[in-house]
Amino acid sequence: MYEGAVQDLIDELGRLPGVGPKSAQRIAFYLLAAEGADVERLASTLVRVKNEVRFCIICGNVAEAETCRICSDDRRDLTRICVVEEPKDVVAIERTREFRGRYHVLGGAISPIDGVGPDDLRIRELLARLSDDTVTEIILATDPNLEGEATATYLARMISPMGITVTRLASGLPVGGDLEYADEVTLGRAFSGRRKVD
Ligand SMILES: [Zn+2]
Repeated sequence: MYEGAVQDLIDELGRLPGVGPKSAQRIAFYLLAAEGADVERLASTLVRVKNEVRFCIICGNVAEAETCRICSDDRRDLTRICVVEEPKDVVAIERTREFRGRYHVLGGAISPIDGVGPDDLRIRELLARLSDDTVTEIILATDPNLEGEATATYLARMISPMGITVTRLASGLPVGGDLEYADEVTLGRAFSGRRKVD
């Protein structure tokens, strides 16, 4: 449609999640009109995020060191692990201030349609964290949609026989959506009202 760099930019932006062709075009022309310094800051941030941000070797959350801020904080409760799909879910739960334990980021959810099976997620790493008797409760906070439910069911079946209490967030979250779409109060309530999975 357009020539050279402008079209390349539209194509690149269009590959981002949630950005359709129209939005890609709008962002491209916004950037074209923006101040050079602003665009340079954005570009250097993009490069920095790839070079500097790593994933925590314990929980899989984004980190700037070998372990993330939460795993390095010895005031956190070591007996509870909250299992989420993505790092953004950690942020959503932290915002509720209901949880003082640690997290485990799976890196997605089981989804046969998308070809994502249990082996594609950080489930082996989770089970390894349960090998000593430190952890007494696993809170399954996967998204309230089909894939999230399937993942929670799968994990509960694996973990319950290990003698660890497995809980799931209470209902009341917007069904079919992402955890992050719930407001703090709703998510906080779902968290404190979590129920044991049998
Ligand atoms: Zn961590």
